[in-house]
Amino acid sequence: MSENKIPYKIYLEESEMPREWYNVRADMKNKPAPLLNPGTLQPMSEEELGTVFCKELVKQELDNENRFIEIPEKIRDFYKMYRPAPLVRAYCLEEKLKTPAKIYYKFEGNNTSGSHKLNSAIAQAYYAKEQGLKGVTTETGAGQWGTALSMACSYLDLDCRVYMVKCSYEQKPFRREVMRTYGASVTPSPSETTEVGRKILAEHPGTTGSLGCAISEAVEVATHTEGYRYVLGSVLNQVLLHQSVIGMEAKTAMDKYGIKPDIIIGCAGGGSNLGGLISPFMGEKLRGEADYQFIAVEPASCPSLTRGIFAYDFCDTGMVCPLAKMYTLGSGFIPSANHAGGLRYHGMSSTLSQLYHDGYMEARSVEQTAVFEAAEQFARVEGILPAPESSHAIKAAIDEALKCKETGEEKTILFGLTGTGYFDMMAYEKFHDGVMTDYIPTDDDLKAGFDGIPRFPGNME
Ligand SMILES: *Cc1c(COP(=O)(O)O)cnc(C)c1O
Repeated sequence: MSENKIPYKIYLEESEMPREWYNVRADMKNKPAPLLNPGTLQPMSEEELGTVFCKELVKQELDNENRFIEIPEKIRDFYKMYRPAPLVRAYCLEEKLKTPAKIYYKFEGNNTSGSHKLNSAIAQAYYAKEQGLKGVTTETGAGQWGTALSMACSYLDLDCRVYMVKCSYEQKPFRREVMRTYGASVTPSPSETTEVGRKILAEHPGTTGSLGCAISEAVEVATHTEGYRYVLGSVLNQVLLHQSVIGMEAKTAMDKYGIKPDIIIGCAGGGSNLGGLISPFMGEKLRGEADYQFIAVEPASCPSLTRGIFAYDFCDTGMVCPLAKMYTLGSGFIPSANHAGGLRYHGMSSTLSQLYHDGYMEARSVEQTAVFEAAEQFARVEGILPAPESSHAIKAAIDEALKCKETGEEKTILFGLTGTGYFDMMAYEKFHDGVMTDYIPTDDDLKAGFDGIPRFPGNME
């Protein structure tokens, strides 16, 4: 099919949507390391994980063998409310950049939660409901995950309790109200409602909270309340699995028009959108069927892949969660003020960490003001107002397209546009007023975080 036949937007039919999630772990020679019990340092068993997470999700978490896992019909029906998501050819951006590169993006912001997180929220809520639970607890930082989960829970008539990092709770009242509109209860974290919250408040009065601290509170409530389990919006294997719908739809759309990407780019916070987008392509690379260049993009202020250590570490500040082997900055690392709330996590998905460690993927970090320049440039030509998180991928895609302009190469670039930025206008305001800063942690700053990584034989050696 000739080049000019490719439409601006490729929409799949509902019937072309994936019926199964793709589990990239099945094709990995080196599997991601198992979660460890922090007390015994032994791999977490199905029973142990089952006290925190729903049964079926534990199975998915531990499943390194099955390549495909069927998507239950009820989840596929929910997906149809906002999927298939379009694959867009960024003709206007290409023209603006005067690049011979062909740029595509998979847009996941077309739902009320404004991001890809709904793909996993509905799956996790579904399995909780199937198990006969009354409700779920979770944390939210910037608010996208809490919003997505509250939407999924209201659809299934499940109670949803969200612990929201206190500074976001105060700075983003509209996010909070969206969650309440969907029936969720939202508590600023740290709070007086949990033991760990009271302890943190006693030690650090006036603290505005952190993601790690909100996770600790949500886990405590889930494990102490009959009929409740905890759910997490990123990092875990199961979340990457659910997000594989992004990559599978993108690949189906590209295959239809005979398009083969050379470079695939995604922003990386906990790794779920990137993992989901690249999964089916990575599968081909792992099986030796095709080759692609994969690029993870993270903020220079929270550089877990590019400057972190590959080791077992705590997933939360309260150290109540299992240990995960991942690229980490240490669970005590607190990134400087950075407006991409979804990219402020200290660690990275174990699956992506392993793939990166084995050389299947690259990573780079970008500075905040450059990210907002790219966001604005994109918004002005492509129309969509991107989330600051997503704009990290935009920045890298533009950089790659400009390299093509220099070399004359006609590379095909695919990136994940994970969401919209309507709730981030305070950050855009700072950028427009010229008061946005770029703080890059020094080696000493990082050392303080690394010092908190647990020492035991085989770790950190
Ligand atoms: C949460 C979020 C991210 C980062 O999370 P990942 O798990 O790394 O995908 C990226 N973009 C948006 C819009 C988000 O809400």
